[in-house]
Amino acid sequence: DAEVSAAEAKDALQRAHSRFKGVKEGKNADYIPSLAKVDPGLFGIVLVTVDGRVYSVGDSESPFAIESVSKPFTLARVLQDVGAAKVEKKIGTNATGEPFNSITAIEQNKEANRPPAGNPLVNAGAITAVSMVPAKSADERWTRIHDTLNDFAGRELPVNEEVYRSESATNTRNRAISWLLKSYDALPGDPMEALDVYTRQCSVNVTAKDLAIMGATLANGGMNPVTGKRVVDSDNAQKVLSQMLTTGLYENSGDWSFTAGLPAKSGVGGGIVAVVPGRFAVATFSPPLDKAGNSVRGQKAVESIITELGGDIFSSG
Ligand code: GLU
Repeated sequence: DAEVSAAEAKDALQRAHSRFKGVKEGKNADYIPSLAKVDPGLFGIVLVTVDGRVYSVGDSESPFAIESVSKPFTLARVLQDVGAAKVEKKIGTNATGEPFNSITAIEQNKEANRPPAGNPLVNAGAITAVSMVPAKSADERWTRIHDTLNDFAGRELPVNEEVYRSESATNTRNRAISWLLKSYDALPGDPMEALDVYTRQCSVNVTAKDLAIMGATLANGGMNPVTGKRVVDSDNAQKVLSQMLTTGLYENSGDWSFTAGLPAKSGVGGGIVAVVPGRFAVATFSPPLDKAGNSVRGQKAVESIITELGGDIFSSG
């Protein structure tokens, strides 16, 4: 019953693309200078099923910086390497209700005796997650994370060196976050080394097609449905999806879960990936963002496709 036919998938994608391509709301992220220059008109949507079928419309092969959409995949790596209990204890898993780069949230968590970082999908938690990947050096840690992203996507993903330089030169707030965590003894190792690997991770270039395959790997219990490679165990893929449901769309995650009813993750590069466990993933790319940092057209497109294909995970049929 859960099988999506080619015709249904293509129609749903096509309709969403033509309905929302004219939407002009939102604005590119500009706190990272090189993201402000990306063509705001680009709009691509891709759906990948757990049996490896790929359906695309629009700018599905345009590369863009993955940014925060990398966070669930590094979380998958950490879950696989150190286990869920350590993630819960050292990073935390609750929504902060605050923006992704909130310092107030760290302070409030500390004050309340919760893990200061908050959860693995905000910057503080994502930088901590990087530092928890077992490795002897920053280079080795980066390679492990990069290999993980590559395995999820099924190809070698390039780093966007311009975004990496642009973000490294301007990420003063992330430096503050990393040192604050260090001061609370909440981040193992050298905070600037962890931040550098995190910044590189965020600068990886993907296409909407890559993100959809990465999402489909989570939908498929951690095995890439296109390459057939197992990337993480199914219980870890499952934990990543739980985390995406409650914290994937920044401080609007509750609204998102309420409206769309499924796990998703957005990034300030304009990407969103949404996952229907056991069935398929949809990914979108459109740079203009709402105030929280979520792609405006992307959210509308995912909601419309999910409604048409019955992807709300809480639907009783
Ligand atoms: N690299 C970005 C930052 O740390 C990621 C932000 C995002 O996509 O939410 O600010």
